Amino acid sequence: MKLETKCLHAGYEPQNGEPRQIPIVQSTTFKYDTSEDMGKLFDLEASGYFYTRLQNPTNDAVAAKIAALEGGTAAMLTSSGQAANFYAVFNICSCGDHVVACSTIYGGTFNLFSVTMKRMGIEFTFVEPDCSDEELEAAFRPNTKAVFGETIANPALTILDIERFAKAAHAHGVPLIVDNTFATPVLCRPFEWGADIITHSTTKYMDGHASAVGGCIVDSGKFDWNAYADKYPGLTTPDESYHGITYTQRFGLEGAYITKATAQLMRDFGSIQAPQHAFLLNLGLESLPLRMERHSENALAVAEFLEKHPKVSWVNYAGLPSSPYHALAEKYLPKGCCGVVSFGVKGGRDAAGVFMKSLKLGMIATHVADARTCVLHPASSTHRQMNDAELAAAGVGPDLIRLSVGIENKEDILADLEQALASI
Ligand SMILES: *Cc1c(COP(=O)(O)O)cnc(C)c1O
Repeated sequence: MKLETKCLHAGYEPQNGEPRQIPIVQSTTFKYDTSEDMGKLFDLEASGYFYTRLQNPTNDAVAAKIAALEGGTAAMLTSSGQAANFYAVFNICSCGDHVVACSTIYGGTFNLFSVTMKRMGIEFTFVEPDCSDEELEAAFRPNTKAVFGETIANPALTILDIERFAKAAHAHGVPLIVDNTFATPVLCRPFEWGADIITHSTTKYMDGHASAVGGCIVDSGKFDWNAYADKYPGLTTPDESYHGITYTQRFGLEGAYITKATAQLMRDFGSIQAPQHAFLLNLGLESLPLRMERHSENALAVAEFLEKHPKVSWVNYAGLPSSPYHALAEKYLPKGCCGVVSFGVKGGRDAAGVFMKSLKLGMIATHVADARTCVLHPASSTHRQMNDAELAAAGVGPDLIRLSVGIENKEDILADLEQALASI
C-alpha cells in the first residue's frame, strides 16, 4: 500500500460484521477464564491484554498504523510528545551515560534533556545542526549512547542532515533518534535515511485539529543492539524486574526496544495515551496526507508573499530558495516543508505587537500545526520576561513572529496578513 492508503487502512482490519472504525476500548482491564491464562500474559509467553497502562487494543491499532507509515517494525503511543522523547532516550540510557543532541530542538525537549534528565545523571552535548564533521565527531564520548535531532526543528526550522548524523552515530555504534513531529511521515521518513528510532508529538499535525495531546515512538528494528551488547545491557541481558527476560533474545531486533519500553517504562512511569485520544489521533491520521500537502502549499505561498513585502525584514522557510536549508529541504522534504514559517517585521517589538492585534483570521495561540492558522509573537507572550538583548541571545528576536499556516483558502490567509501588515 502507498502512504495515503496506509493512512486509512493500516493497523486495523475489521473481520466479518465488526465495526469499520477502530473501536474505543474504554476498559482499564480485561477478563480471563483461568489464572493460568493470565499468568502466560505476565510471563510475555502469550500476547493479549490485561491492563490498559501496559497495552490497549485501540492504542495498539493506532500505534501499528504509525509504525506502518514510518516503515518501522513496532511502535508505542505515549501521553504526550514529552513522554515520547523521555522514553526514547531513557530506554537506552542510564545514570552515567551521555547523548549528543542538536542545539535547535524544541524548547520543552531541550529543558527535559539539559535540566531534568541531567538530574538523573545523563549528560547531553549540544551541537548545531550545521556544525562541521569535526565538531560533530568531537561531541562523542566513550559513554555516548544515542544521537538526537529534529527533522524540521521547532521553532528554529533548521533541517537535520539525517544521513550525515546517522553515519556519525553508526560510526560510534549508537542509534540516531529523530523527532519527526513537524515533517510527519508524509513529508519525510527518516528511517529511509538511516535513522533508527523516530518520535512524534502527535499533538501537532498528526492529530491536526488541536484536540488531543499525545506522542509516539517508532522503532526501525534495524539497530543491532547485540553488536554493541556491552553498551545496551538493558536490551541484551536478562531483565530481573521482568521474569528474567532478555529482550533481544525473546523479541528479536524488530521487537526488543518497544517491548522493553512497554514492559519497563510504561509499567513504571505510566504515561499512557488514553484510548479516547488514540481514537481522535486516528481520525487525524486518516486525512494527514491531504492536510500536509495543503499546509505546505499554503506556507510556501505565504513565505513568498512575506519575502516580497516591504514591511517584512526577513523570512525563515526552508521551501524558499533563499533559505540556507533549501538544499537539505530539496533532499529530505521534496513534497513540502510543512506549514510553519517564521519572519520578522520592520520596527521590532512594537510593530510586531500592532501586527498581532490587527490579525482577524490568524488566531493567537502557543499551539502550532493546527488545521487553523495560528500566530505567536514570543517577545510579547512566551518570552515576555526577556529584554531585547536576551531575546537576541536566545535566537528569538523581538521582531520574530511564528506563523503556523493552516489549511484555509490561501487567499483568505494572504488577505489577513496583508491587512495586518498594512496596519503597522
Ligand atoms: C510539541 C513538541 C514536542 C512536545 O510534545 P507535547 O505533545 O506538547 O508534549 C516535542 N517535540 C516537538 C518537535 C514538538 O513540536
